[in-house]
Amino acid sequence: MFAGTRVLVTGGAGFIGSHLCRRLLDDGYHVLCVDNFYSSTRDNIVPLLAHPHFEVMRHDVTFPLYVEIDRIFHLACPASPVHYQRDPVQTTKTSVHGSINMLGLAKRTGARILLASTSEVYGDPTEHPQTEAYWGNVNPIGIRSCYDEGKRCAETLFFDYWRQHRTPIKVARIFNTYGPTMHPQDGRVVSNFIVQALSGSPITIFGDGQQSRSFCYVDDLVEGLIRLMDSDQEVTGPLNLGNPAEFTILELAERVRDETGSRVDLVHRPLPSDDPVRRRPDISAAQRVLGWSPTVNLEHGLPQTVAYFRRLLGCASVQRVTPKSPTNGASHPPRTLDE
Ligand code: NAD
Ligand code: UDP
Repeated sequence: MFAGTRVLVTGGAGFIGSHLCRRLLDDGYHVLCVDNFYSSTRDNIVPLLAHPHFEVMRHDVTFPLYVEIDRIFHLACPASPVHYQRDPVQTTKTSVHGSINMLGLAKRTGARILLASTSEVYGDPTEHPQTEAYWGNVNPIGIRSCYDEGKRCAETLFFDYWRQHRTPIKVARIFNTYGPTMHPQDGRVVSNFIVQALSGSPITIFGDGQQSRSFCYVDDLVEGLIRLMDSDQEVTGPLNLGNPAEFTILELAERVRDETGSRVDLVHRPLPSDDPVRRRPDISAAQRVLGWSPTVNLEHGLPQTVAYFRRLLGCASVQRVTPKSPTNGASHPPRTLDE
């Protein structure tokens, strides 16, 4: 990309989107952030509002968007199970209609477009670690399906636009990403555990805690997304982007307790249905094609994330969080700090 390039970031007010917007501005691009604030607030982008090359538009991507743009990072979609299961029909619409609209925009403007897809396309994987060649093991009618199948359909649309219209596409399959500015009530495991430990509430382990995830620090992920966007036109992906270091959820809980110095109890809650048992990316394709590897391991990323939440909880009135598992009654999660 060249400085001055007009870049659209859908979902730009979200956790990853706001880090991406900041990085793009730092690199000299003109950034248009489009978001309907379904799973975020303006808090993440307030620090960017004064930047002369930053613009924000409240818009739902399930409706067409007419702007002139050179590049599109298409991130709009709730990513936390608690959020995407709150209104599953809207989640599927966001993935499918949203992708059709953004691909239509890319086709009209000639913009290059990148999809923030997900490791969830592999479902509860029967192959480990997961390579891009694996087609996945996804329940099409379960509580995670709105997200998993929505993203799978989005990938289908991207590759059909590529084959049918030669739209320049890029598909990133993002694995669990964490870091500062996650919303304290976002519902994902890293933020839940840190907020619980810092606020003296028991850490909620869903199931026996032996399920695993691999955690990527947000700066590494943003670097991977930018390299993929900048890669040669024939590089479409899909490419796994994540950190292959794998931890059980129990190990994560222990690390959070150590890092926070908190001795809160670990309490077990029912495992939500279809919760993947194991997840670890094979990133050899991204290493080969993009020259990209994560550089921040959990030993370094967790302290930075804990420090962020310490500052946040010290200066904002955040209530104690004892999240329910998504199957446990589908409580409506608090959406913002100030609602
Ligand atoms: P997030 O919920 O913080 O951000 C998503 C953003 O999209 C929010 O700002 C939300 O308000 C916005 N949004 C949702 N529906 C919209 C709509 N219809 N129109 C416009 N905006 C809409 O989540 P995140 O962690 O920043 O994830 C960003 C993207 O990365 C998502 O597409 C997600 O599927 C993907 N991803 C994230 C992870 C992860 O671990 N964070 C893993 C895999 C994939
Ligand atoms: N999890 C947990 N306690 C929580 C939140 C999540 O044990 O308070 C577990 C969840 O069941 C899953 C893992 O942590 O096995 C990761 O959950 P998350 O919602 O962060 O992301 P997922 O990878 O499941 O989409």
